[in-house]
Amino acid sequence: MIANEAEKKTKKVYGEVYIDRERCKGCSFCVEFCPPRCLELDKAYNAKGYHPPALVRPDDCNGCDLCGLYCPDFSIFAVMIKAKKD
Ligand code: SF4
Ligand code: SF4
Repeated sequence: MIANEAEKKTKKVYGEVYIDRERCKGCSFCVEFCPPRCLELDKAYNAKGYHPPALVRPDDCNGCDLCGLYCPDFSIFAVMIKAKKD
């Protein structure tokens, strides 16, 4: 999920977050260590019975990839995208 078009025009960078819901074991490290708190555990379960994270505030994500750094199961990572200058 990525920031909306209006946000992209005013920000220098924004993040794209990739979540492998089925690898996740719902430990919540990514949620707890995200500096702008833009992740939450989903209410839905994955096939293993865990709640994977969801990017609930995509406009706040800057692509720092701390979520990916702290995930013990390589279930999430992010990339930082530089906004295009008009
Ligand atoms: S990339 Fe950074 S800001 Fe975005 S969800 Fe991950 S920890 Fe949070
Ligand atoms: S840190 Fe990884 S395993 Fe833990 S909830 Fe986040 S995506 Fe799932």
